Amino acid sequence: MAKLTVRDLDVNGKRVFVRVDYNVPLEEKDGEMVVTDATRIEATLPTLRLLIERGAKIILAAHCGRPKGQRVPTMSLRPAAAKLADLIGVTVNFVDDCIGEKVASVVGGMVPGSIVLLENVRYYPEEEKNDPAFAEKMAQVADVYVNDAFGSAHRAHASTEGVARVVARRGGKCAAGLLMERELQFLGDELDNPARPFVVILGGAKVSDKIKVIDRLLDKADALLIGGAMAYTFRLAQGHKTGASLVEPDKVDTAKAALAKAKTRQVKFLLPSDDIIADPFKTDTLDKKGKPVIDWKNVRTSSAADVPEGAAGLDIGPASVKIYSDALAGAKTILWNGPMGLFENKLFAAGTNAVAQAVADATAKGAKSIIGGGDSVKALKKSGLGDKVTFMSTGGGASLEFLEGIELPGVAALSDK
Ligand code: AMP
Repeated sequence: MAKLTVRDLDVNGKRVFVRVDYNVPLEEKDGEMVVTDATRIEATLPTLRLLIERGAKIILAAHCGRPKGQRVPTMSLRPAAAKLADLIGVTVNFVDDCIGEKVASVVGGMVPGSIVLLENVRYYPEEEKNDPAFAEKMAQVADVYVNDAFGSAHRAHASTEGVARVVARRGGKCAAGLLMERELQFLGDELDNPARPFVVILGGAKVSDKIKVIDRLLDKADALLIGGAMAYTFRLAQGHKTGASLVEPDKVDTAKAALAKAKTRQVKFLLPSDDIIADPFKTDTLDKKGKPVIDWKNVRTSSAADVPEGAAGLDIGPASVKIYSDALAGAKTILWNGPMGLFENKLFAAGTNAVAQAVADATAKGAKSIIGGGDSVKALKKSGLGDKVTFMSTGGGASLEFLEGIELPGVAALSDK
């Protein structure tokens, strides 16, 4: 069912409670905490500008980090208020609480088009418990509820779900912000009715994290291209040896079922035909947990189906890159989630970068490319191709759950059109 969006609302003079995703990285500089990456704040500007234009009194709520119900000063949203004011060119009034007298008094003095940012909602343990009394207290300053925090929509917390329920019960409207609307459009509608061929690229560490997505996409896609460590669990399922590669032996049956489903449904299911492999060795350096940091030697390309004993598969090889790029070149719709290898190490980043380039090239030729969040977004940005794709999701866990076909609590709570 289509959800109401902020565009559909009459907000003139009303108090609009907007849940945003300001879970931004903060760092201390000259004794002050500052925002080091404002991408998430920038992403909310279209919604905020629309609300300002329409004369809303905007009350922003968000979480930052995991303070676990405590007032952790380094997780305060105060620096986000300063950053937002810079970006939007309007004064942003910060209140160092998200419920109670102080909030009521500041909001009571608001004029249309003004903005207030409330303190980290996770300073209260009731937030993550979706405590009804706490949601009720937050909702005291809300005539209308808007959710623009797609990245938190898979959590049924007070500010993402509870407040919406209270507002709706009182007869108020609950709507998706413009960012949320785009997420639902691209991860939802566009993939429900994709232009074909619809090619999906899935990578990352674990089959277990993505099997529900694989299963659902096998009903929709024309081809699935698999990379990352996940590919080795599929190799195991095909009876091959995987050496020291990261695999999930207990997921072999799951992988076999996916391969069988692909065959029945005549979906092209491509696994890498060659790999970049290397031999792990323990260095003298210890990581944060006190374990030796692993490094790699003897990096080489292998075209054998078996990974030799003592070696690990860490990236797709050049032949696979060619096959995957060719498959992407003919695509009309592309969905990509998960890197093709251990891309944080530049020795094993070539496969992921090449796929990023192939996705960008296909987009230039008219394909719609949708990047399903997390590491693939990081990889695209790193290779400077972020603006060469159609849409990059801002959600990690939320995108995956949405792609699995689960209705997200933060979306379910919004009013239907
Ligand atoms: P995910 O969160 O499931 O998308 O997994 C992303 C992580 O998987 C990244 O940190 C990658 O470095 C890692 N990864 C991908 N391929 C491999 C591989 N072949 N071996 C080890 N780690 C990998």
